[in-house]
Amino acid sequence: MSKHTHSFQAEVAQLLHLVTHSLYSNKEIFLRELVSNASDACDKLRFEALNNAALYEDAPNLEVRVSFDKEARTLTITDNGIGMSEQEAIDHLGTIAKSGTRDFMNRLSGDQKADAQLIGQFGVGFYSGFIVADRITVESRRAGLPASEGVRWASGGAGDFEVEAIERAARGTSVILHLREDAEEFLNAWKIKQVIGKYSDHISLPILMEKEEWKESEKEGEPGQMVKTGEWETVNKASALWTRPKKDITDEQYQDFYKSISHDFENPLTWSHNRVEGNTEYTQLLYIPAKAPFDLWNRDKKAGVKLYVKRVFIMDDAESLMPSYLRFVKGVIDSADLPLNVSRELLQESRDVRLIRDGSVKRVLSMLEDLAKHDKHEAAAEGADGVQDVVSAEDKAKEGKYTQFYAEFGAVLKEGLGEDFANRERLAKLLRFASTTSDTPSVSFADYKARMKEGQEAIYYITADTLAAAKNSPQLEVFKKKGIEVLLMTDRVDEWALNYLQDFDGTPLQSVAKGAVDLGKLQDEAEKKAAEEAAEAFKPVLAKLKEALKDKAEDVRVTTRLVDSPACLVVQDGGMSTQLARLLKQAGQ
Ligand code: ADP
Ligand code: MG
Repeated sequence: MSKHTHSFQAEVAQLLHLVTHSLYSNKEIFLRELVSNASDACDKLRFEALNNAALYEDAPNLEVRVSFDKEARTLTITDNGIGMSEQEAIDHLGTIAKSGTRDFMNRLSGDQKADAQLIGQFGVGFYSGFIVADRITVESRRAGLPASEGVRWASGGAGDFEVEAIERAARGTSVILHLREDAEEFLNAWKIKQVIGKYSDHISLPILMEKEEWKESEKEGEPGQMVKTGEWETVNKASALWTRPKKDITDEQYQDFYKSISHDFENPLTWSHNRVEGNTEYTQLLYIPAKAPFDLWNRDKKAGVKLYVKRVFIMDDAESLMPSYLRFVKGVIDSADLPLNVSRELLQESRDVRLIRDGSVKRVLSMLEDLAKHDKHEAAAEGADGVQDVVSAEDKAKEGKYTQFYAEFGAVLKEGLGEDFANRERLAKLLRFASTTSDTPSVSFADYKARMKEGQEAIYYITADTLAAAKNSPQLEVFKKKGIEVLLMTDRVDEWALNYLQDFDGTPLQSVAKGAVDLGKLQDEAEKKAAEEAAEAFKPVLAKLKEALKDKAEDVRVTTRLVDSPACLVVQDGGMSTQLARLLKQAGQ
């Protein structure tokens, strides 16, 4: 069979260039990526074999082997998982299937550090091999295909790759890295074990390496060396982290596990690990990341929660385990009750899944409530009795985290108001806004209520495109004059989300840009009278204005809401706000 040369998809070539240039200081992640691919391949085999046990052939024990050859300067990762056919090798190792790839590329700034962070989140996967290798050879045979239908894929990581058919008896895949000169440190068993321990300990299959032993030289005066023994040993713990008891897991292990499932380089803000018993039994290990991923706004992106059934990986699933407004949550859910061959359709209908989802949402909300509670200690440090509360180190570590969380994910959380009716009140408590007293989003509805003026009957807010626009809106004038706080909402989602929230804890929400603002008891008698008199006096003028603007304005009236500006536009009560109208227009509606 002849060799064929193929070009990488343009995005791959671009990504490869970036990978080798900006991930340099995180070299070792290539091993994590390749071991994780090997483990995914075994998961896929196990899954397909549920309906076709013949796929196991004569090798039912799934495993990953890592070996190196000092002379040839190669490092090889071999698995006996699902393998690839020739076409699959061309498709999977020559293109990037992820949605949002182009968008991602556009976000790269050229600043190595920032880009490395982004690329890490994107998950460079297989291509990370080129950080340490100037040539990669992949040999594979798909489970179920004959030995004659093996494939060899090879590339120097520039513009193209070669593919040829080979004979390969063993099912599965070998990835052979021809190491660059500056990556020789990986030709060392100790180093490899260290990296596996750091990133791949939780992989639930055995990762094997050949044992070495010290051998004295036969010649007098020459140094001895380590030689391979032909015997293989397991070098990872091979127990899924979430199945171990909490007390046996260190923070560092939780963090490393997070990094291995999220591709994030940074530690998560917080996590929660629980075994839930009752109607349905499951284990959840859920993380809140510290940074928003580049594709947070891509609503059909894969959710970060992986579903396992009795430790067998089933799928990365979106909607059925986590609602879309919590799509930033990463982690693992392992159910003891679902059937192994559960399909997506079945998941959506399953009562167990519904219970798991409800339980997981509640868990995430409690994590957030906990962070919110400990966000600021200055305020809470001195209790009513004047005695300083003792702040535990654990609580102290949570300071500032909610603010950080909110800056990254606050806008997504708001989607929950429209999406998750059952938890609307809990969500409302978690929201934070800028206001006429705070430029940063730090004001909760509860804070606002506590500061309400005597006689004030509503929570006032205004929506605008920017903070500056909100602050300078003429509609705020009367509120400023009277010293009434107004929440300033500038997220695109605010307008939509607030449609779903009529009140907070019994106090209605009122947009200052809608209808006639009724200041109720906040307006004194003299002001009311003056307004009525003015309305009367201006009647003829209003009639003329109304006639002149009849195609442009529904009504023209005298207002008490302005102090310095001569006029402003408002929306009728119950009408679409100007911001929402603009948003819909932008969206082409
Ligand atoms: P991801 O793992 O996120 O899909 P990768 O770049 O790591 O992205 O891998 C790309 C694809 O190549 C995988 O989805 C898989 O189809 C294929 N692949 C990579 N490594 C292996 C392997 N060891 N066995 C089988 N298929 C593999
Ligand atoms: Mg991968």
